[in-house]
Amino acid sequence: MDNEREFKLPWAESNHWCDHLGNPITQVPRSKAKLEGVCPECNKFVSVPKNKKPENTCPQCKKKISTVDWFINAMRDVTSGDGSKFGLFASCSRVAGWGNMPFELMMWKVEDRVSFCSRFGVELYKRYGDDWEKHLQTIDGPLKEYLDRYSAMGTYGHGVIHQAMEGKEYERSEVMDRILGQISGWEAANGVKDVNREASFVNTTIGIGGTIDVDCRTPNFILDWKYKFSKDAFGKLCKKQNADYVCNQLASYGMIRDEKPDEYFIAPILVEMDEKFRPIPGTGQVEYIPLTEKEVETGERRVMRHVDSLYASLNYDPRIMFKEGQCWNWSEILKGSRS
Ligand SMILES: [Zn+2]
Repeated sequence: MDNEREFKLPWAESNHWCDHLGNPITQVPRSKAKLEGVCPECNKFVSVPKNKKPENTCPQCKKKISTVDWFINAMRDVTSGDGSKFGLFASCSRVAGWGNMPFELMMWKVEDRVSFCSRFGVELYKRYGDDWEKHLQTIDGPLKEYLDRYSAMGTYGHGVIHQAMEGKEYERSEVMDRILGQISGWEAANGVKDVNREASFVNTTIGIGGTIDVDCRTPNFILDWKYKFSKDAFGKLCKKQNADYVCNQLASYGMIRDEKPDEYFIAPILVEMDEKFRPIPGTGQVEYIPLTEKEVETGERRVMRHVDSLYASLNYDPRIMFKEGQCWNWSEILKGSRS
């Protein structure tokens, strides 16, 4: 199946990798760059190889076309083959879910073939069950609509909160102001100082890396925002129903950080959306749910098990590659050679 899609989407951390320095990696350079644009003859969105000459042949209508000024697509999504070649470390989120659901396992195996699919695989599975793959080939329209929605929500939450808390310009709305007000209120009440938002770490001994939403040293805690778009999902997470994945994820963040946190928080954020995916005025709520010591310990144990089975299934182990000095860093990957 063709995995070249015109959708450009933010990556979920579950599909990130990272190098041994902790740089998150979602894409690597293509061996041959592509040009992308709309064919002036048949009006289809197409990708063509980047040739020396500006003339190309449209893969759809086979006519000769000029591709001057087309978008250069020089990067492609990371595959597990790249992981093994460069000695990349899997993300905390990926390991948090690994082995919990048979479906996660299945998505991992098809990753190289349809990498974008794994990003939305769980949702596709919910909608189409075991026939998801067959459906995938016939649902480009509805899929795109769904992905647009998913993308809008994810970008909205993470982007806006991050921008706003950093004191940068952000897309103002009554809902976002309420959420940000609750966050600042909680931080003031808890004496929060010395905070990094979106701090990346890797632990080459444990074998995972990731980005922590809020990494605070005074007081010493970590926190992960969880955007929920329905009261039901929000309420369940507040009560930690089916929260194994989230506990694993937070425990793994504690494991990669240079200093063990004293406290771990799940922070569900409720943003209710209308049919046009705009936040509904009057809504917007944040809760801070601490993990118990037992939840952290259980999460850590599960994460260690998952890391081992993950690299066993991938037939490489970046922990060993790192000891042997075989891991590439991000700038070496971009350059295409070890320095
Ligand atoms: Zn054409």
